[in-house]
Amino acid sequence: MDRDRLDSLIKAERERFAAEHPRSRALFEEARRNLLDGVPMSWMSRWPGGHPIVATEASGARITDVDGITYVDLCLGDTGAMAGHAPPPTAAAVSDRYARGATLMLPTEDSTWAAGELAKRFGLPKWQLTLSATDANRFAIRMARQVTGRRRVLVFSYCYHGTVDESFIVVGPDGRPVSRDGNVGPPVDPTETSSVVEFNDIEGLERALKEDQIACVLTEPALTNIGIVLPAPGFHDAMRDLTRETGTLLLIDETHTFSAGPGGYTAAHGLEPDMLTIGKAIAGGVPAGAFGMSNEVAERVAGQFEADYEDTGGVGGTLAGNALTAAAIRATLDEVLTPAAFERMIALADRYTEGVQRVIDEQELPWHVVQLGARAEYGFLPEQPPSGGLAAQSSDPQLEEYLHLFLLNRGVLITPFHNMALMSPATQEADVDRHTELFAEACEGLAAD
Ligand code: PMP
Repeated sequence: MDRDRLDSLIKAERERFAAEHPRSRALFEEARRNLLDGVPMSWMSRWPGGHPIVATEASGARITDVDGITYVDLCLGDTGAMAGHAPPPTAAAVSDRYARGATLMLPTEDSTWAAGELAKRFGLPKWQLTLSATDANRFAIRMARQVTGRRRVLVFSYCYHGTVDESFIVVGPDGRPVSRDGNVGPPVDPTETSSVVEFNDIEGLERALKEDQIACVLTEPALTNIGIVLPAPGFHDAMRDLTRETGTLLLIDETHTFSAGPGGYTAAHGLEPDMLTIGKAIAGGVPAGAFGMSNEVAERVAGQFEADYEDTGGVGGTLAGNALTAAAIRATLDEVLTPAAFERMIALADRYTEGVQRVIDEQELPWHVVQLGARAEYGFLPEQPPSGGLAAQSSDPQLEEYLHLFLLNRGVLITPFHNMALMSPATQEADVDRHTELFAEACEGLAAD
């Protein structure tokens, strides 16, 4: 690739962005006085263009900014808004519940309904509600440690499970585990708490499980946070057999792979985890997370009389399981992210993937596109990478900036992290086609003389 050409393309896109977003720019400058980096949470500074657009409202698959520009949103809050922005049933349930009390420290009928539905969808009978997927993972890990009496957790290299200390570990260049680059103030070196192998490495997994006394394997069914890395045929079966053989709990994180269907990848592919975590989309954008467990794990938890699950034992949160979250989960799962909605969303992602593949083929780009239900992602390798380590090596921040900004300047948002697009129940075929058309144009720009 001609890097000088790429530089000048990015420069032109930045100039266009600056000219068309004066109000966002002014508000960003003002925000910098009291918000670190000018944003309420640091990763919002990842948007291309030098500063994020400042939003006024979002509805369905659209976001509008303070400069009056409306975008097709294929980022959908990096899955937090997979149900679409402000889906009417959730909006109605949330305003009704808020008017009748949001945080009661008491169960409501909605929490019973939510747990029942999660059990039906994901096949695990016992649930707890949290405020985020990160919390769900943290609490599930603690419980797994407590019931197994083991300290270590195993994760896959370049996984992401939220801000979970144990997960910031990768396979280093010499094959040994190291703390992930940029890990902020780790409480302890993660090599003390965690083992790590590459995704799809069955032999490495077997060795680690047999040697390291692992409490639980924490994994997504397919990695989704370093591009998409799909499991090789037989990988899940081998992981399930090995975890059972070694008395290790299998903890599946469905936060993103929920895109695979109403019961996530777990139901779509018949996985049998001991514990499962989820968050983001289940409450239509209201902060929510949940973790579920088998009856066997629940019985082991109940038998841990020395562990304090009710107060200061390290599992919980004052607002966790609040009435507002439960009402939002109920409305979203009952009326928005329904089996019929998934069918539509997945058909749209089929269309998206076919469109991107067509452009890759026609322009002979050495890239690939991977689909996982309602989400899809392109990457800068000719083939799908089999591991997080290989996927990480292919990341190209400069190329990403160009593609993301080209799309944004023409009214389409994809996630600022790698190249993910997600379909909501409100997304239209025309939205998908608009992306395909722009993607083709952006790639043609890279090649032109
Ligand atoms: N699990 C997975 C697989 C995720 O991708 C993320 C966030 N990207 C999380 C957990 C954490 O979600 P949250 O930041 O909402 O806690």
